[in-house]
Formats: sequence, structure tokens, C-alpha cells
Amino acid sequence: MQRYYQKDIETMPQERLRELQSQKLVKQVRHVYEHVPYYRDLMEKKGVTPDEIRGVDDLYKLPFLSKNDLRETYPYGMLAVPLSDCVRIQSTSGTTGKRVIAYYTQHDIDLWEECCARAIMAAGGTRDDVVQVCYGYGLFTGGPGLNGGSHKVGSLTLPMSSGNTERQIQFMMDLKATILCCTPSYAAYIGESLKERGYKPEDNCLKAGIFGAEPWTEEMRHDIEASLGIKAYDIYGLTETSGPGVSFECEEQKGMHINEDHFLAEIIDPDTGEVLPEGSRGELVFTSLDKEAFPLLRYRTRDICVLTRKKCSCGRTHVRMSKPMGRSDDMLIIRGVNVFPSQIETVLLNEGYAPNYRIEVDRANNSDTLDVYVELVPEQFSDTVSGVTAREKALAGAIKTMLGINPAVHLVAPKTIERSEGKAVRVIDKRKLHD
Ligand code: ADP
Ligand code: ZN
Repeated sequence: MQRYYQKDIETMPQERLRELQSQKLVKQVRHVYEHVPYYRDLMEKKGVTPDEIRGVDDLYKLPFLSKNDLRETYPYGMLAVPLSDCVRIQSTSGTTGKRVIAYYTQHDIDLWEECCARAIMAAGGTRDDVVQVCYGYGLFTGGPGLNGGSHKVGSLTLPMSSGNTERQIQFMMDLKATILCCTPSYAAYIGESLKERGYKPEDNCLKAGIFGAEPWTEEMRHDIEASLGIKAYDIYGLTETSGPGVSFECEEQKGMHINEDHFLAEIIDPDTGEVLPEGSRGELVFTSLDKEAFPLLRYRTRDICVLTRKKCSCGRTHVRMSKPMGRSDDMLIIRGVNVFPSQIETVLLNEGYAPNYRIEVDRANNSDTLDVYVELVPEQFSDTVSGVTAREKALAGAIKTMLGINPAVHLVAPKTIERSEGKAVRVIDKRKLHD
């Protein structure tokens, strides 16, 4: 099976890839310097001129950009071409504050859709596939990105958008969808809804799913794979760099290949800004290499992960990133301990619960409190009160072993925690309300 969309680029030897990146970087830096006064000022403040950027090795000389810079320059301050050259805007989902707007020329749209096409083909997609896209359409990049990628592959595209689960299931069955694209939390919900309607995993025609836009654990992957009878692939991206497809998983499912001919990746220490060597855990930073309208140099994603250049059996040479554990600003500090919601998810699924949970953090008597609400799975629901209390104690013990802090676990009735059709909101930090 042909598993590449652009084989020459996806399997290019690393030295040649680096040369290509260097050539593109020199041009991209000049483009930004000449057309984005805001970034030119940052470069001047740092005392660096475009002449000093001769290749990838000079990247460290450039100043960083953060989401705050994008908010400050809202709405047009980062635009590097005349507005009349742009054909589209998209916007972040605003998970962590004011929305950011990204602009695209037709060239930028093509580049982005090609990245998504690579992801779909890596998941086994061909022109004979039926791709059901139930990421949101509109300002959110998920729907438009995968939609465009699916067109480029030549698959039949079902532009479902998110929500209306009844209709999703009807189309999935009637039109024999083979590849499902949505957030992992929505995939889990679709799996649960199919089961409720009496469908078994083998009753659908799905073979693969391409799930991203939010953090999800390996345990959640296994759950979704079992409930839908598919192979579940991760896809990553952010509006600022274009959207989903910045990186994607191949059949190895061991990290996501970053489309390095378009995006240069670095890992830095989030506190000091120091560039860290391959294999270190830190904040992911991206530099676009050939974007026209909204090129960003050294953009800090706040996503925490690890990069590896180890050879991959799929033949792709592009660097791989580990699943982001979450963003640095998703990390909770509870009684001085760093906690990622994904760690709690791992424990819940390992202990046999479904990924329906809510984490509440608060402060009482000058001490942080951690409450974890988890749904009982239907088979456990008939348990006696003492049975449930014993389960709560056991789960609290397992979480304590993972995190080192004691949570209060509350097992609640099935279907009482709200399901997500887009990005799931799992954490409520009530401490912020008191500040
Ligand atoms: P917002 O920042 O408002 O959520 P986006 O919709 O652009 O805006 O979301 C991009 C962010 O979503 C990324 O920075 C990352 O934190 C998260 N994300 C996207 N894909 C994944 C993934 N596969 N795994 C974990 N997190 C992801
Ligand atoms: Zn691979």
C-alpha cells in the first residue's frame, strides 16, 4: 500500500532536509523582517539582523514569540502580506483565553491541506476511502483542515462537523465510513453511543481514526480502538502554525512525525528559554518555513513533549514528537506537586473506568483540595453502597500512588458527566475564582 502523500519529501535524508530547511529559513526570516514591523522591532531589540541568519544553526539568535504577542497585535499586526492576498481566516478555540486569528493565502491553505493529506495517507487513507470529518467546521481549524486533506487524497469526504451524534451514526453506517476524524473525547462518545444502540465494533466499516486537538493517553487510545474496532492515530497542530497536520502518527504509532519541510521544531526549557538537546522534555517551539500570510518565528506553543530523531520503520525521516502531556498552562500545582490531568486519566482507565471524569481543584483551610468525579461503568452501577465506597478508596489509593497526593474520589452514576463533542473540559480550578 502506498502510505505516503509526498514520498520524496517525507523520506528525504535528514542532511538534505536540513539544507532545505536552511534555505527556506533564510527567506522566511527576510520576509517577516521586511513585512512585520512588530517582529522587526523584536529582532532589533535583540540586536539581530536577517543577514546573521544563514541557516538552521542560527535559529537560536532569533527572539521568541508567544500567544501574548499575538493578542497584542490582534487583529492585523502579524500579517505579512496585503490583506487582499489572503483568502481565509481561522481562529483558535479560545481554550486558554482570547482568540487568536490566523490568516492564509491560497498557498498557505494548500500547504496546510497537504500536511493533513500526509496524515490521512499515513493512517491508510486512499481515494477509495470514505472519510467522516466530525471535527467542528467554521473558525476552528479541525474540520476545514481534515476536509481539505481528504480532498487532496481523493477520498469521499463527509463534512459532518461535530455534534448530532444520532446523525453521525446514521451516516457512518449508511455511507460505510472507513476513516473517522474527530477529537478523541468525541470518538469515545461515539463508541459509547454505538454500543448503547446495540452495535458491536465489527458492525461498522471503520478501519482507522485520526484523533487530535486535545491531549489523550495511550490508555484512551486502547479504549477507543476496542470500542470502534479500529486503529487510532494521533494528529497534532495549532491554529498559529496553520491547524491540524503539523505532525501526525504513522503505522508505528510511536510519536508524531513533524512536517519538517514546513515547520522547524525546537524544545526549550520553559523557564529559561534555553534550547535543550534531543530527548529532553520541554516546551515545543515552532518556526514556520514557507508561510506567506501568517509566518511565525520561534513561536512558543506551551505544549510539553520530547523530540526524537531515531529511525522510524515507516521510512519517514522527519523528527517525531511524543504525545504532548498537556500544555504548561494545563499543569496544575496541587499542594506543591505538578499534576497533569492526563496522569489521572491514565490511572482511571487502568483501573477499568471509562474516560468520563471531571477534576476539581479548590482551596480549603489554606490547603489545596483535589476532587475527582468519575462515572461508574454500567456493570458496576448495581454495586452496594459499601461496594462503591470500597471502589472509591481503591481508586484514591491508585491516584495517590501515581501523583503522591491524596484525592477525594467520587463515583457518580453513568451518564451524569457531560460528554464532549469538541475539546473536552475536564478541569475546574476553583482556586482561580478566589484570586
Ligand atoms: P486553543 O489554543 O484555543 O485550544 P487550537 O484550537 O489552535 O486553540 O488548539 C491548539 C492546541 O491544542 C495545541 O497547542 C495543543 O495544546 C492542543 N492539541 C492539539 N492537538 C493535540 C494532540 N494531538 N495532543 C495533545 N494536544 C493537542
Ligand atoms: Zn514513522
